[in-house]
Amino acid sequence: MTAHIIDGKALAATIRKELKQEAESLKQQGIEPGLAVVLVGEDPASESYVKGKVKGCEEVGIYSELIRKDASITQEELLQIVRELNQKPNIDGILVQLPLPKHISESAVIDTIAVEKDVDGFTPVNVGNMLIGEDAFLPCTPHGIIEMIKRTGTQIEGKHAVVIGRSNIVGKPVAMLLLQENATVTICHSRTPDLAEMTRQADILVVAIGKPHVINKEHVKPGAVVIDVGVNRLPTGKLVGDVVFDEVKEVASYITPVPGGVGPLTITMLLANTIESAKKRNSPILNGMKG
Ligand code: NAP
Repeated sequence: MTAHIIDGKALAATIRKELKQEAESLKQQGIEPGLAVVLVGEDPASESYVKGKVKGCEEVGIYSELIRKDASITQEELLQIVRELNQKPNIDGILVQLPLPKHISESAVIDTIAVEKDVDGFTPVNVGNMLIGEDAFLPCTPHGIIEMIKRTGTQIEGKHAVVIGRSNIVGKPVAMLLLQENATVTICHSRTPDLAEMTRQADILVVAIGKPHVINKEHVKPGAVVIDVGVNRLPTGKLVGDVVFDEVKEVASYITPVPGGVGPLTITMLLANTIESAKKRNSPILNGMKG
């Protein structure tokens, strides 16, 4: 069997078209979704992520505000910026690009973001709501992964999903979302004794390790859907995932490439959450207009 390769770029483009239509329809009702992105310092990776986020907003028709601050900003000054954004009526989503300089507590900053504007889905209240199945902004990478699996036409319910990795931004939340979709979920990590024994049981295998080429064809059940979240730069400069793509594509039914798989979906889901936030925050207007 040769797997279908899931084209993350094409999928992201399709979803962005749908979001653009939603943003246009909101604009016709006098509502313009708005995202504030706060960038502290000059980390080149952060610069490039932020650029992608601002560009994504332009493409979809979301108002965006980029707030750049020098790495010498104090924690209190940054918290004050977040508090002001919490109050701004034209801002529906606030994203503080991580990592922050060492003298600033990331959790203090994230905790200050108003829950109703936490479009990254990182505040403890949002994470808790997601866990108990209440209304919440879903963290962008896990949200993108679920969307990706669904759009292959794969039914998640009743499947055995194995997630490798238990980080707060990928492994744990994606496992929770798969559980909510009624998969039977196993979470593996660096202390799992026989990884292959676990992964060979997976109908859906989500790999979020952050080490190149850990998962090969011996780890994969024929016909499995394999989602490779890892992004690793080899000494040659080449970007690769955690999965040996060329081998595993010969046994899987669907597989994501790296680059061009999960990555493009992450920013797209941030845009989706911002539009969702604008809809929620303006629901009295929207419902009033419907009625
Ligand atoms: P992380 O915080 O470093 O977590 C890695 C997880 O992998 C940990 O739970 C660790 O176990 C586990 N692990 C490490 N080595 C292992 C091994 N040999 N066997 C089994 N499990 C192992 O990383 P992360 O933030 O979740 O990110 C994972 C990867 O996804 C990275 O490459 C990152 O760049 C990428 N990523 C991509 C996107 C995107 O949009 N494409 C978004 C986010 C992250 P322990 O808990 O026991 O240490």
